[in-house]
Amino acid sequence: MVRLFDLKTGNRRNYKPQMAFYALGLMQQYDEDKCEVHEVYSRTQEANVYVFTRDEAEKIVNGVAGLKRDPGRKENPCEYCGWCARRADCGALLENAKEVLDENFDSEDMGKKLTAARRAADWASGVKRQAVAEAKDGSVPSGYALVSRTAGTKTIEYLMKKD
Ligand code: SF4
Repeated sequence: MVRLFDLKTGNRRNYKPQMAFYALGLMQQYDEDKCEVHEVYSRTQEANVYVFTRDEAEKIVNGVAGLKRDPGRKENPCEYCGWCARRADCGALLENAKEVLDENFDSEDMGKKLTAARRAADWASGVKRQAVAEAKDGSVPSGYALVSRTAGTKTIEYLMKKD
């Protein structure tokens, strides 16, 4: 059996599909049938420990790969949209984000409200990231200026609204 340790500095999430890819690679490399996975969470000092068989890992990896190849697949906004490179252009995420602006939106349902707010934030951060990338390539959006600030060794660039 091989063992895999992955240090996570953020919140606990469902990392099983990601771990299945790593575990399968290790099992293939070392010709083993089992992999013990340790998701180690530094913030809470906890660990999530489980074992993948090679069959289980292959099933998950093939399922994810099949979804990616499926031409009929639909975007399905989820808790990982904030990390998605496509979030600025994703129609499903934008539809979700619009819900928060809809005057008929059910503001009594805090769970629904929070989910919509998170989708809107993910979409907005994607748009900002894309706008800065395009500005760096020379296409600065009208009404904005590309500004650069250095703090220590770090330089950040952002778009500032002109008066
Ligand atoms: S932004 Fe769209 S494509 Fe990206 S993970 Fe979310 S739903 Fe999927």
